[in-house]
Amino acid sequence: MSDRIQVTVWNEFRHEKDSKAVKELYPNGIHAVIAESLAAGDDMAVWTATLDEPEHGLGEKVLDSTDVLIWWGQIAHDEVSDDVVLRVRKRVLSGMGLIVLHSGHFSKIFKSLMGTNCSLKWREAAEKERLWNIQPSHPITDGIGEYIELPNTEMYGERFDIPTPDELIFISWFEGGEVFRSGCTWQRGHGRVFYFRPGHETYPIFYNEQIMRVIANAVRWACPRVVLEDKCPQVKPIEELSPKKVSFGKAGRLQGNQ
Ligand code: ZN
Repeated sequence: MSDRIQVTVWNEFRHEKDSKAVKELYPNGIHAVIAESLAAGDDMAVWTATLDEPEHGLGEKVLDSTDVLIWWGQIAHDEVSDDVVLRVRKRVLSGMGLIVLHSGHFSKIFKSLMGTNCSLKWREAAEKERLWNIQPSHPITDGIGEYIELPNTEMYGERFDIPTPDELIFISWFEGGEVFRSGCTWQRGHGRVFYFRPGHETYPIFYNEQIMRVIANAVRWACPRVVLEDKCPQVKPIEELSPKKVSFGKAGRLQGNQ
């Protein structure tokens, strides 16, 4: 077994086939560009999986050997099978890290882990975005500096219908005036979840070195510390219990003579 972090980059891989503009930017898919960038370091082994593969490329075996899963979806969230979503969810709760990018806010897996609608405001007008790094001591922002500036992005605006994040890492400002919680973390079970906003498919976001640095940092941060499958066992006491005079059925009630 390698001691490198095992990363699976998942992509629905649809708009790269349907749209000429996206195809020109990401000819082999967004997943390929992300995977190539992450694999350039020496601490990650990176694999990819896509929607049209059997079990969306996320069979039991793949998930069991994945430390961190990166999720890209945009136009085909509904085509992801509920069985696969449940399998991914179970694995996150056991300890696998999950990084959800951009339009993945509406993916079944993200909504299921958040328990809210995950809706937001949006506008596609190639406007400027400045992502403010408000946690400069956090491992996810290592080497990022005070902010990241993207010249052309799709706008996402508040209110973003998510549960209050455990940690808010980035806040975005947009040229048109909106703001957005662009980098958020949550613990779910034993797993760490990071949502990262940038990434509209018609802009070269995943060729941006700072953006890819955040994603690589997030992979290292989300790597499991433990992997523990959920159980709900009946257990024997650790210490010896004193004998009780009451029947179990009445053990919780106040009685005159105990
Ligand atoms: Zn988008």
